[in-house]
Amino acid sequence: MLVVGGGLAGLAAARDLAAGGADVVVLEARERPGGRVEQIRLDDGRPVQLGGEVVGPFHTAYLGLVEELGLTLEASYVGVPGQTTYDLVEDVVRSDDWPFATAAERADYERVEQLYGALAAAVDPDDPWSHPDAARLDCVSLGSWLRSVDALPSVVRCLETGAIALADGSIERHSLLADLRKSAAACESGFYDYDRWESLQVAEGSAEVAASMAAALGDRIRYGAVVEAVSVSVGGCSVRLRGGESLGAEAVVCALPVGPLRDVAVDGVAPERLASLHAQRHALAAKVVSLFDRSVWTDVGANGLLEGEGVLGSTWPQRDGVLSALVPPQRLGALLSIPDADRVSVVHEELERMYGAAARETQAVHFRLWGTDPFTQGYVTQWWPGDVMRVGPLHGTHDPPFYVCGSDQWVAGYMEGAVRTGRGAAAAALGAR
Ligand SMILES: Cc1cc2nc3c(=O)[nH]c(=O)nc-3n(C[C@H](O)[C@H](O)[C@H](O)COP(=O)(O)OP(=O)(O)OC[C@H]3O[C@@H](n4cnc5c(N)ncnc54)[C@H](O)[C@@H]3O)c2cc1C
Repeated sequence: MLVVGGGLAGLAAARDLAAGGADVVVLEARERPGGRVEQIRLDDGRPVQLGGEVVGPFHTAYLGLVEELGLTLEASYVGVPGQTTYDLVEDVVRSDDWPFATAAERADYERVEQLYGALAAAVDPDDPWSHPDAARLDCVSLGSWLRSVDALPSVVRCLETGAIALADGSIERHSLLADLRKSAAACESGFYDYDRWESLQVAEGSAEVAASMAAALGDRIRYGAVVEAVSVSVGGCSVRLRGGESLGAEAVVCALPVGPLRDVAVDGVAPERLASLHAQRHALAAKVVSLFDRSVWTDVGANGLLEGEGVLGSTWPQRDGVLSALVPPQRLGALLSIPDADRVSVVHEELERMYGAAARETQAVHFRLWGTDPFTQGYVTQWWPGDVMRVGPLHGTHDPPFYVCGSDQWVAGYMEGAVRTGRGAAAAALGAR
């Protein structure tokens, strides 16, 4: 069997296929495994994540895999002591939570969150299309819905800044149904709960999950193998690589992000399935990681957590002296328009504004432009209004001998989505043999 793409999904699929006795080859375009999980290691041994980092307690597929691989879980940044920083256009504010000006605004947030929680409770995360009002909930953005329930402007701003901090796009570009589906998957009673989604990390570094699987697969992974075409048939499938080489297989497991998948010519697959796959989209973002010899943000009483209205939409402490940041889709253009040589000074200016003069004293700043990387073309799954219905119930399903996996084939992306769908695709392919 051929697995196309050696990120977490493709590696998890290949690992299970190999364990199930299949003859498997992974075709990976880059010269390394892991896709959107990637790390570097500092001279002092600290692993630094340039891609995916944290998970939550309901991410059972990922947590199960971590255990099987003998890796260690530890608490992530969620719950670090100190105050969160809000880098607002008018001021930098430090506070335990969003700095509402009045008690009435805070009460309104709670009112709106209750309404949202009640709506989410009625959505089946595995089958949002079965909701009696699915089409209506999908064509409305979260922003429009907030205004329809008379949310105060400060509540809308709080939720917009929170969404931008997650870098998966403005609330004006979120399908309400997709948002509710995500909340239902996490069994939340309200808006995005960092404890549910982000409170754990792999102590050895999250990229070690991919590295361990890749090491075990050994030469069953072909690096530098850019897939350009896939031909599917029950009588035998074939895959063509850049350079012209062709490989045959009984089945193909496609583990590509949705952008690069659009660049691959696929035939022998039902047009509805291709239309569904091609309808999916990503938020385009970049990650910026600043390295210090110590956690300088604590000098000003900050916990390193930021929601911001500058180029950096969020920051959070990755490890001692390692500060992660996301540049959200709305601001990626601003970052790209700055010449390479000047980008560090823009980051320094923002960090100084948030965390004081010591925050300029970086040992290094790493930019990882995932949004413009040809083998990712994005960052995380994004559902615009109308997308849930456009993609439809084929989402996350297979068309043997063409199996589809990857974080985009789950509710909302994430490493959980990659592992869950990768293992699911392997089980389906093994079951069909
Ligand atoms: C900056 C950033 C931060 C994130 N933070 C988190 C987080 O904290 N928690 C979390 O759970 N998730 C996070 N994510 C998301 C998570 O990392 C991804 O959803 C997940 O790793 C995707 O795995 P995947 O295997 O589906 O796709 P990918 O990792 O994208 O793997 C796809 C693979 O296909 C390869 N490929 C592409 N085109 C071709 C081709 N034509 N031929 C052959 N191979 C090809 C790619 O090189 C890649 O290796 C983050 C992502 C980013 C970028």
